[in-house]
Parts: sequence; C-alpha cells; structure tokens
Amino acid sequence: MRKKLVVGNWKMNMTRSEASAAIESLLLLIEPTTEVELAICPTYLTIETVAQQFRRSRFHVGAQDVFWMPSGAFTGSVSAVMLKDMGCHFCIVGHSETRGRFGKLEIPESTVSYFAETDETVNLKIKALLFQSIHPILCVGETLAEREAGRTDEVIQAQLKGALQGIEGAEFRDGVVAYEPVWAIGTGKTCDSAEASRVCSMIRKALTDILDEDAAQAIRILYGGSVKSGNAEELFSQPDIDGGLVGGASLVAEEFSKIVRSA
Ligand code: PEP
Repeated sequence: MRKKLVVGNWKMNMTRSEASAAIESLLLLIEPTTEVELAICPTYLTIETVAQQFRRSRFHVGAQDVFWMPSGAFTGSVSAVMLKDMGCHFCIVGHSETRGRFGKLEIPESTVSYFAETDETVNLKIKALLFQSIHPILCVGETLAEREAGRTDEVIQAQLKGALQGIEGAEFRDGVVAYEPVWAIGTGKTCDSAEASRVCSMIRKALTDILDEDAAQAIRILYGGSVKSGNAEELFSQPDIDGGLVGGASLVAEEFSKIVRSA
C-alpha cells in the first residue's frame, strides 16, 4: 500500500525568519502521529533552517531544483551532493516553471529560455539525485494548447520516457511523479478530479511500460495545480492519486495543515 505524500513547494517565497515561523506553526498544527508523509521544498537559502526545525519530526525537507554535476565551474548552481549534505530527502525536477512553460507570463518572453529545462536535463538531474539517494519528484503536465489539441497523454508519455531514459525500475521505485497540468498551476483552476484520476492512471500504465510493474505500483503519483483545502479530499481519494504537490496554499500553515489532514 502506497503511503500518501503531501509536498509543499514554497517557490521563491519566505525569508529565513518567515520560514522559521511558518514551520513552527505547521509543527503545532499537524499531528505528529499523522500517517501522511510530508515534505516542504523551500528555497536553497532556507533548506538548512527548515531541516533543523524538522530534525526531531517525521517531516522531510526537499529542494526545488538541482544541477547535475557534482561540483565545478557552474556559477549559480547547486549540486545533489550539496543537497544531500543539507539533509534533503526530496528534490523537484521538471517543474513547468523551470521548464520555462509558464501558465501565465510573469517574466519577459525573451527570458523564458533562461529556465529552459528539457527532458534531457531532467534526466541528468534525476540520475544525479538517485546517485545521492535523494528521491526525485518528477513533474509532468500539458499546457492548455496541448490539452485543447488532444495531446495530453502523448505529451506526458514523452516527458516520462525522456526523463526516465536509462533508469531501472528498482532505482526509481522510491521516486515520485507529480501530474501538474500547466494551465492549473497558480491559476486557481483545478483539473476536474475524474480527469486528474484518468491522467494519473495513464501515468501509472506508462510507468509500467517504461520501467516495470513493480516500480509502477510503488511510485507515488501526486496531483498538483491549485490544490486547496476545499478540493484536496476529493482529489486525494482517487485510486491513482497518492497525494499532492501544493504551491500557493502551502505558504499558509492553517490552509496547508487542512490539506494534509484531507490526505
Ligand atoms: C506548484 O507549484 O507545483 C503548484 C502546484 O502550484 P499551485 O498549487 O500554486 O498551483
């Protein structure tokens, strides 16, 4: 039986003092006996703060991105070795924001390619994380244009295939896949639970084909995209949805703790 997992993606939010206060509230609001596995992915600069506060809890800290080389002349980058050293248990890869596929354009169009993560670089990042025994949270999902063109399944299958190239089922069985329709991220639009469930089942079937049955049954598949306390229970009760990747709503301890309780 797969354990439910709820991950908060704090994105570029929270100074150290804000992070510390938010974690203090979360630890008070969420019962330590919860059966749900919980992780927070803060910015690189607050990983250590969150890790220290989680030290005596059952909660995990994760990162939002990684560079695949272990060290060297890669200005501005952080390696999996460094994340391991900070105590990271999870790391997000292939988020639509780092792939450069913004749901709404918040930056000048000419700078989108700065993010430009591809299936190939996502694959390199996953391999670097697995080498350090950090569990990747691989994000996949279609844009609105791809959905409207009827290409949802094809796009996601290609993302999974590219990201998992050369990786064995046994290596990725503790990994996580997050289905995040790009059009639902930060927009307040949630994917209908029946459709989210259908896509997550399709993802599990694709994982069986790309990896193997054993790994596909073990991998947690999360839904992400405007998850809130009001829709979490219905989404998380779908058979192939094993929890959520939560952005905006993870910044408010009360709201996030209600989402965790729904799981
Ligand atoms: C995300 O950033 O992964 C996400 C799902 O964001 P939000 O919950 O704000 O849509």
